[in-house]
Amino acid sequence: MAELNGSAGGPAPVPNINGRAYPFIDHTVDVVVVGAGGAGLRAVVGCAEAGLKTACITKVFPTRSHTVAAQGGISASLGNMGPDDWRWHMYDTVKGSDWLGDQDAIEYLVRNAPAAVYELEHWGVPFSRTEEGKIYQRPFGGMTTHFGKGRAQRTCAAADRTGHAILHTLYGQSLRHSAEFFIEYFAIDLIMEDGACRGVVALCLEDGSLHRFRAHRTILATGGYGRAYFSATSAHTCTGDGNAMVLRAGLPLQDMEFVQFHPTGIYGSGCLITEGARGEGGYLVNSAGERFMERYAPSAKDLASRDVVSRAMTIEIREGRGVGKNADHIYLHLDHLDPAILHERLPGISESAKIFAGVDVTKQPIPVLPTVHYNMGGIPTNYHGEVLTKVGGDPDTVVPGLMALGEAACVSVHGANRLGSNSLIDLVVFGRAAGLRCAEMIEKGGKHADLPKDAGFQAVERLDRLRYASGAIPTAELRSRMQKTMQTNCAVFRTGEVLEEGHKLIHDIWSVSGDIRVTDRSLIWNSDLIESLEYENLISQAVVTMDSALNRQESRGAHAREDFPDRDDREWMKHTLAWADPATRTVTLDYRPVHAYTMSNDIEYIAPQKRVY
Ligand SMILES: Cc1cc2nc3c(=O)[nH]c(=O)nc-3n(C[C@H](O)[C@H](O)[C@H](O)COP(=O)(O)OP(=O)(O)OC[C@H]3O[C@@H](n4cnc5c(N)ncnc54)[C@H](O)[C@@H]3O)c2cc1C
Repeated sequence: MAELNGSAGGPAPVPNINGRAYPFIDHTVDVVVVGAGGAGLRAVVGCAEAGLKTACITKVFPTRSHTVAAQGGISASLGNMGPDDWRWHMYDTVKGSDWLGDQDAIEYLVRNAPAAVYELEHWGVPFSRTEEGKIYQRPFGGMTTHFGKGRAQRTCAAADRTGHAILHTLYGQSLRHSAEFFIEYFAIDLIMEDGACRGVVALCLEDGSLHRFRAHRTILATGGYGRAYFSATSAHTCTGDGNAMVLRAGLPLQDMEFVQFHPTGIYGSGCLITEGARGEGGYLVNSAGERFMERYAPSAKDLASRDVVSRAMTIEIREGRGVGKNADHIYLHLDHLDPAILHERLPGISESAKIFAGVDVTKQPIPVLPTVHYNMGGIPTNYHGEVLTKVGGDPDTVVPGLMALGEAACVSVHGANRLGSNSLIDLVVFGRAAGLRCAEMIEKGGKHADLPKDAGFQAVERLDRLRYASGAIPTAELRSRMQKTMQTNCAVFRTGEVLEEGHKLIHDIWSVSGDIRVTDRSLIWNSDLIESLEYENLISQAVVTMDSALNRQESRGAHAREDFPDRDDREWMKHTLAWADPATRTVTLDYRPVHAYTMSNDIEYIAPQKRVY
């Protein structure tokens, strides 16, 4: 750490808030990456390999990032189990996105996917194998061959612990280089100067020290914000901290109305049962024992896209055909499959079903329910990972110094609905792209301009405000009100009326958030304080999610409006941009055009069609 310290140019003035001094420890690097999930670590490897001085900040130990929980696999058209082609992967991803994805970015993703998977293989990811020793690939929802005509086996898997295998391998790789890790450091806010990002301020959770990172590029790889909802498959750490920092910096988030519900969260706990379970032959039934997906998606059936399956399950339950005492969930059957296959390919979910539902999957069905799983929306970027904003008439203005990756970013390759196994590939393809971009754009060890004297003070003021917050409402109560509102008013099906009510409720919660109460005043391992910082991050994202959903008067991908059941390409084939001003508690919405062009001449623009499976 010594090498990185104290080089920010002279002694730093010390923020002094209400008589309390908060001295900074200064660090100067080429690149600071916030986040050590799959996206962050892949970027760290790329930047460090290129000889850039790289720091990585993470609030949890790297291998505890949510990527570790990814089960089913990572998509790439390797063609190990039958014919495949990146063009078919592209078609599926565009169709999966319900034509909201940017086709230049999608082409970049699917073309670079096979090389990214082989790179992981060579770095040591223990993929499952075919008889001939090739990487095993399973069918996944919405993945087809010949432009929708056949069923593809495209999802590369390490049993049902693919994310675990990838994250551990990437952490190992990142340690080969001289990147510096700041583990269990909580990034509070970006340092912005004249519209450019100059770095980030973080709190060391262990000793309460404050750190100011000055960097040529700051890369946000902070993951999704599933915990804005009551029931989510994501870890409790998935609070979208980077997204909220971007909002506080006066920059927009994109397409926040698109929240993916995974069809098979375990009823009650929300713990995930991978789509790979249906890929291996599992199927859903209602209370009549009917395989109802045959009615909703005659061709793809249980392997239709996630939004389609989640809606079908919700309709079955609503119409009184749910299972269980309250007829409020659905059964997933795996008990017809060979126990040896279950043991070999789905050991993790067999264990989860036992622990969280008390079910032996070889004998009984698993009780499941659609559960919040993934955020298609996030920080708008181009396919180099550079953050975009709209200035004047230019919707693709690059924000100097700032990049975003992974679930925090909206490139946008997933558009209105992400296909299963397309996130893990997004992490490594764009993580690599960001490393390449940094290597290209940054002069190694190049001189840094001095920071303004008060750089980072705002972040410390925010910390101090929450540390001494003595309002009437405990953080846990505000959080629970927010989570229940999102779960009730911004779910699988939406109507104007329910969203109007949600808009009012969530803005009410936002407006009383100043009355928050934190009881622990310490700076050392203060989980009350950290959860309050995370709550503030979540509520701003909840508000823009609700308002963007209320605003979009059509149905597309994961956004299903019962009052506007059709997709409306004339009016709505555009990205939503949402700004939130915490001072005035107002949300502003605007739009960006969808990139209706490809990256190269090797494939033509895929024109909108009706989306049936
Ligand atoms: C249960 C589950 C199963 C899944 N299965 C699959 C699958 O099989 N295939 C697939 O393609 N996708 C899957 N997904 C989706 C995919 O795993 C995630 O979208 C992806 O892993 C997100 O990676 P990430 O690198 O963007 O963020 P994460 O892995 O969530 O990492 C975020 C990082 O940011 C850090 N961080 C956050 N905030 C701060 C802060 N304030 N200060 C410092 N550090 C911070 C954290 O410490 C962490 O290191 C699954 C998701 C879940 C929840």
